[in-house]
Amino acid sequence: GGVVRFEDVRFSYEPERRILKGISFEVPAGKTVAIVGPSGAGKSTISRLLFRFYDVSSGRITIDGQDVRDVTQKSLRDAIGMVPQDTVLFNDTIFYNIRYGRWDASQEEIEAAASMAQIDGFIRSLPKGYDTEVGERGLKLSGGEKQRVAIARTILKAPPILILDEATSALDSYTEQEIQSALESVSRGRTTLVIAHRLSTIIGADEIIVLAAGEVVERGTHGELLDRN
Ligand code: ADP
Ligand code: ADP
Repeated sequence: GGVVRFEDVRFSYEPERRILKGISFEVPAGKTVAIVGPSGAGKSTISRLLFRFYDVSSGRITIDGQDVRDVTQKSLRDAIGMVPQDTVLFNDTIFYNIRYGRWDASQEEIEAAASMAQIDGFIRSLPKGYDTEVGERGLKLSGGEKQRVAIARTILKAPPILILDEATSALDSYTEQEIQSALESVSRGRTTLVIAHRLSTIIGADEIIVLAAGEVVERGTHGELLDRN
């Protein structure tokens, strides 16, 4: 399961300004679709609509044929995992931060998830930059470390559908490679929608959707897009 479909989706945050102007695409079960396009094109809006942070103005979004408006928030949250651009961690060890949302997870499960996300070396430590002054506002980790904690959380949660909102900020190439391989292990076999900023995920995607000003302006595999341009 886990087929995601957007059918002629239109959306406005404010009545007079159209953000998505009739978007259709499908992410088949277990496949990866990458959404690319300039800043402001509407990429993050697509993930917010899938999560029902907002509802479509017209058209519909379905998961396995069921309109997301007919699904409870709880089952939607169970079905979809999100690796956000910026993860807020709480003031405790990486171990507890990974367990977030899966409090019943065994130590073995947590360690396996940490290992796949390549943070097994420091799950017992407090995040780098840990500072009691930071308190409830969150911990300071590098972007790459935080993203790997988010990946480990998602591996532990094991949702059928995954949204990866890739970091826009530049990561050093070593970190980028580590994150790329962690992302590949978490997305394997899952229906994955990538808000893409890295060439590597685009090349590997089953389909690339190019969005500009709320419209799909091109679509195809990486090879097909290259041939056309
Ligand atoms: P992208 O992810 O491609 O950069 P977004 O989906 O974040 O684009 O935003 C698309 C457009 O919607 C932008 O013009 C943005 O300013 C606008 N927008 C985003 N969030 C809101 C909001 N909460 N209220 C009003 N406009 C918004
Ligand atoms: P939980 O289901 O563990 O209680 P949350 O309610 O915080 O977690 O979030 C539910 C899902 O929504 C999680 O997969 C989380 O990663 C995702 N999520 C949280 N905040 C955002 C956001 N700002 N944008 C998109 N997805 C989010």
